Amino acid sequence: MYPFEYLRPDSVAKAVAALDGEARYLAGGQSLVQSMKLRLSSASALVDLSAVDALSGVAREGSTVRIGAMTRHSEVARSADVRAAIPALADLANSIGDPMVRNMGTLGGSLANSDPAADYPAAVLGLGATVQTDRRPIAADDYFRDLFTTALEPGELIVSVGFPVPQRAAYVKFKQPASRFALVGVFVAQTTGGVRVAVTGVRSHAFRVPAMEQALARDFRPEAVAGIRIDAAGCNSDLHGSAEYRAAMVTVMAKRAVEKALAG
Ligand SMILES: Cc1cc2nc3c(=O)[nH]c(=O)nc-3n(C[C@H](O)[C@H](O)[C@H](O)COP(=O)(O)OP(=O)(O)OC[C@H]3O[C@@H](n4cnc5c(N)ncnc54)[C@H](O)[C@@H]3O)c2cc1C
Repeated sequence: MYPFEYLRPDSVAKAVAALDGEARYLAGGQSLVQSMKLRLSSASALVDLSAVDALSGVAREGSTVRIGAMTRHSEVARSADVRAAIPALADLANSIGDPMVRNMGTLGGSLANSDPAADYPAAVLGLGATVQTDRRPIAADDYFRDLFTTALEPGELIVSVGFPVPQRAAYVKFKQPASRFALVGVFVAQTTGGVRVAVTGVRSHAFRVPAMEQALARDFRPEAVAGIRIDAAGCNSDLHGSAEYRAAMVTVMAKRAVEKALAG
């Protein structure tokens, strides 16, 4: 690991002010510290967000559930508000990694990192959530840009995410057995504004499947998506699964997600 300074501000304003030059925010360290240990990344300073109370917690705000960026996956999984309003989101959080990862990893860290196989991007896109930063709201449809690349500007801090409460929703993933990251994950949500289908693990970043959304808006049953295939071109391919395999699994996981949503 290369040497770095360590800072622990206690407010959003101080955290943002501390992030100059080559400094990086530190959430739970689940991705950042490992890549620094391997010297794949470095930072002049780590700005630890763990003392900024305003970044943690879950609150129900009318038809939205707002979750602070520093809220750990285990807190989302256990939250009574999340379980009551969006049980699919609590289930998703509970499916991430192992207990240690869930006790340290955060919503904001996951979204800032934007790993192509991460679970939260499917929920953010599938629910049409809004990523609130220290300077602006970013709609989910504008947030995910490319491999490990988001709409965040240098130094921009994720403060919270507002998740609209759906009529029903479900998340199903086919797991990489060692890490439990998604080889293929599909989030389906039926909302007052229509149906959304979001996929993770399959391309460079999470994406929606409009053909499935339109079919499910007409007929919200697994059969409606059974014949819809996404193009394998541009899908990830590795020792765990070819592009063709991942593309085919999107249909399988989408059917299962609709079944699960209907089962409530
Ligand atoms: C063994 C293992 C298994 C895992 N399995 C899964 C899995 O099954 N599914 C899954 O989705 N994920 C999985 N993860 C990822 C994990 O859940 C974390 O979400 C992810 O590693 C980010 O960690 P973190 O929150 O500690 O952020 P950090 O590692 O501290 O930070 C990650 C990046 O985000 C930036 N950042 C952090 N917070 C903010 C913020 N508020 N605003 C702006 N930038 C910020 C940091 O500067 C850094 O660049 C796994 C990780 C490990 C180590």
